[in-house]
Amino acid sequence: MPELPEVETVRNGLIPHLVGRRISFVDLRRDDLRFPFPNGFEEGLTDSRVEAIDRRSKYLLFRLDNGLTWLSHLGMTGVWTIDSDGEGKHDHVHIEFDDGAVTATYTDHRRFGVMDLFATEDECEQKLLAGLGPEPLTAEFTILALKDALNGRRTPIKTALLDQRIVAGLGNIYVSEILHRAHVSPLKTAAVVAGKSGRISVAIERIHRQTNEVIFEAIEAGGSTISDFRGVSGSGDLGYFPHRFTVFNREGEPCKNNSCAGTIRRIVQSGRSTFYCPKCQR
Ligand SMILES: [Zn+2]
Repeated sequence: MPELPEVETVRNGLIPHLVGRRISFVDLRRDDLRFPFPNGFEEGLTDSRVEAIDRRSKYLLFRLDNGLTWLSHLGMTGVWTIDSDGEGKHDHVHIEFDDGAVTATYTDHRRFGVMDLFATEDECEQKLLAGLGPEPLTAEFTILALKDALNGRRTPIKTALLDQRIVAGLGNIYVSEILHRAHVSPLKTAAVVAGKSGRISVAIERIHRQTNEVIFEAIEAGGSTISDFRGVSGSGDLGYFPHRFTVFNREGEPCKNNSCAGTIRRIVQSGRSTFYCPKCQR
């Protein structure tokens, strides 16, 4: 499942192909992905020019010169490919730019992806974006903001960090990595991690720092190769680079934290796998 770094990689892959181009034809092969396409979707896109491609959390935001923003969320298995033949069974959206000079095809075999279209000036009211918390590597994501968001929460820190209202863009893989590097147990209560008011706990300081570091490194590495997500590139082949996880999917293997002799365990929290080292994550 693509997380923030993967979506950033897709964004960086799409920009050189699509920014500045005019959408000349939109071919929707279905009425819906996870949700129905909005009314007027094809008409809203057609004949507009892509001015920029932004990202908020895991949402790609194509800024169009007609004042609209076209949103694309990749769900579990969504992939954008440039200049493929667009004839695959799971190719649900095929878009031509500049009268076919370039095409972009959206493929999604599980169809958990989402597309929407809204007035750019109404972005703060857009239902998918409105409740998102600050995201890593931005000025809004401060230790104090994180502490305030975790304050009083009785859920485990693992679950809290997956809550997009607390930190936007983190998913299951990277939260395991962040907590492992921060030496914080995923089972610890969020409120306990937040600590007493007026004091910054070591745990929250480490989580904040590791969140930024892990996300930065993952973006640098071009995202992960987990699952069958293929990314985007000029020829439609792999756009992703291997990224080594220190804890994710390593159940039963030795802990990689310095001088730790622990063994990685897998548990299930809120229906999702958590990988951690019971010895050095307290
Ligand atoms: Zn360990």
